[in-house]
Amino acid sequence: MSENETRVLVLDDDHDDAFLIEEAFDEVCGRKYAVSVFHTPNEALEVLKTQSFDAILCDYRLGAISGIDFLKAVRKMRIDTPVLLLTGMQSDAVDQEALAAGAADFIAKTELSGIVVDRAVRYAVANAARERLLRSVLDNASAGVVLLAKDGEPALWNPRYGVFASMLAGVEPDPDVPTARELVSALSRHTLNADTKDILVADHTLEKTVTPLERGEVLILLHDVTERVRALQERHEAQARVTHMAFHDTLTGLPNRAAFNNRLDDDVHEARRRHRLLAVLSIDLDSFKAINDLYGHAVGDAVLSATARQLKEAVGEGEFIARLGGDEFVAIAPISEDVEVPPLAMRLGEALERGVDLDGRHFSCGGSVGVAIYPHHGADREQLLNCADLAMYRSKRSGGGVCVFDSEMDNAVREIRRLSEDLKLAIEHKDIRVHFQPQTTVDTRELTGFEGLARWTLRDAPVSPGQFIPLAEKNGLIVPLGEHVLREACMAAVEWPFPAKVAVNLSPVQIARSDVANCVHTILLETGLPASRLELEVTETSLIEDRDRALHVLRHVKDLGVSVAMDDFGTGYSSLATLQAFPFDKIKLDRSFIAQVHEMHPSAAIVRAVVQLGLNLGMGVLAEGVETEEQVDFLKSVGCQEMQGYLIGRPAPEAVFPEKTAR
Ligand code: C2E
Ligand code: CA
Ligand code: CA
Repeated sequence: MSENETRVLVLDDDHDDAFLIEEAFDEVCGRKYAVSVFHTPNEALEVLKTQSFDAILCDYRLGAISGIDFLKAVRKMRIDTPVLLLTGMQSDAVDQEALAAGAADFIAKTELSGIVVDRAVRYAVANAARERLLRSVLDNASAGVVLLAKDGEPALWNPRYGVFASMLAGVEPDPDVPTARELVSALSRHTLNADTKDILVADHTLEKTVTPLERGEVLILLHDVTERVRALQERHEAQARVTHMAFHDTLTGLPNRAAFNNRLDDDVHEARRRHRLLAVLSIDLDSFKAINDLYGHAVGDAVLSATARQLKEAVGEGEFIARLGGDEFVAIAPISEDVEVPPLAMRLGEALERGVDLDGRHFSCGGSVGVAIYPHHGADREQLLNCADLAMYRSKRSGGGVCVFDSEMDNAVREIRRLSEDLKLAIEHKDIRVHFQPQTTVDTRELTGFEGLARWTLRDAPVSPGQFIPLAEKNGLIVPLGEHVLREACMAAVEWPFPAKVAVNLSPVQIARSDVANCVHTILLETGLPASRLELEVTETSLIEDRDRALHVLRHVKDLGVSVAMDDFGTGYSSLATLQAFPFDKIKLDRSFIAQVHEMHPSAAIVRAVVQLGLNLGMGVLAEGVETEEQVDFLKSVGCQEMQGYLIGRPAPEAVFPEKTAR
């Protein structure tokens, strides 16, 4: 049997007919047929068990059974060889039945010839090959495929479709067993009825393609897109999480600053378009810092979260609240023309007043709410927020509650802003001068040193340090300003005819925000002033914010050989504790005590006690603000060592030395 031989099985109970068929094949030229002839179905079936053929030619009449019965028996053996039926007469009914059973073609016995059998067999073999290819494509397709006949019943489907049908029915899918027609039919109906592109079958998402064919047939393709949908969903969720994180505060879950900015911009835009009013609320808890300090950060955080929840509950529809950070919140509320105070401000104020309960403990921080109204107080986000903040500070100063912005606050602010800019320029242009005020012993009034004090003249008028120093501390300019004063003071001191000390004030903000020790060291090297001639005056506030850092800085300064004085002693709230924390070289007793000592005032007792305390701690005591001889007498009587004040000398552009300078 060679490669291009076509193997044909012929079955005909009539020996003559069988012979005629064989002869017809012999007539065929150019093509080789190996024909095996059988006369009973059983013989043929027996051979088919072991041999394969390219085509089967079978008589329609086989005695006891018909050719169609034989065809069915062959298919039952799972043999898909094309079967051609030899018929005597033409009958549509028989043809239909044969085709339905899977017959490949018919050959009329009356027309039997070489050309006819050759053409019919070749055609059937080619067709079978194509069908096998199609079958194998369908069997291996990842898509489920079904062909519905005109009546909507499945005519053809692949194993994958069977799997999907089983999933829909909730039965265990088995790709090897072709699924029952009813299941396949049910899935098809389900698919056709679903009006979305994606249909859900069990926990799978199937994407459907329904294609109507000619003759009323319908082809359905189902793709399993579960993974793709899941991946897409996961990406969406991840995206949503990132977006949420970008616009929400992790501690309280409230929208954050970025979200607030977007929202306020949008709302202002909308209010402008519709000529509506909009209230912007700035909210600050009053005693949150104390709770944090007293109970620790964990409790602080819990109080903050609970407070945030309570605030959120007070926010109604169309209103908005966000947390800017720390204990700062902001809210937005549309309001009508006739209200003076936005209802939301009242509700938030009440919520803060109520406080929160945590683990059986009640926390009430109270809060201050500042209100600014668009368009009265500002045209954009920055202006509105600024005004709301100012109103909030005003409220805080007057003990909390709700405060609506007024233009007076604005003028003050504008002035402060202008002053800030002027101060910045003044520092850059080194327009800040240093004046020197002498310090002497009390007994003999011998000169011991000078305190350097910053002086600023703006457009020919002096600006008081009481005004520009706090401002510089607020906007951070104190750092370059302080450095400038220190350098000027040291530069002046090296030129003095007498090695008196020079005292320079050091702001808490400098200690907190700059590398003071390094700066002092550099300036001493630069100017050549011996460290022992420099004294830094610090107030108690320096030690309150970040005590450890401040003590560390002061120790560093002291290590350089610079002395440290405690300024304004007695005005802080735990001056004695502060004295214990650091070995100051000197205590500067605040001038408020000295001003009152002449009267029979408790101050006298305090001054006496402080001098005693200084002696015990090994710290010298200097009395500030000495203006009268009576005060000097008193200081003498209690044994105070040093003094400073208008009586001795006012701050002056140059250090003034007496004719006869002590030692
Ligand atoms: P301070 O450190 O307590 O400075 C002493 C203040 O008392 C000075 O006010 C001085 O002019 C004033 N004074 C001196 N003797 C008398 C007196 O007999 N009677 C009265 N009533 N006052 C007297 P000034 O110069 O206005 O400074 C005010 C505050 O500004 C200073 O208080 C200090 O805290 C701060 N300051 C001044 N210059 C600087 C500086 O360069 N750096 C820093 N950080 N603060 C400075
Ligand atoms: Ca001082
Ligand atoms: Ca002082």
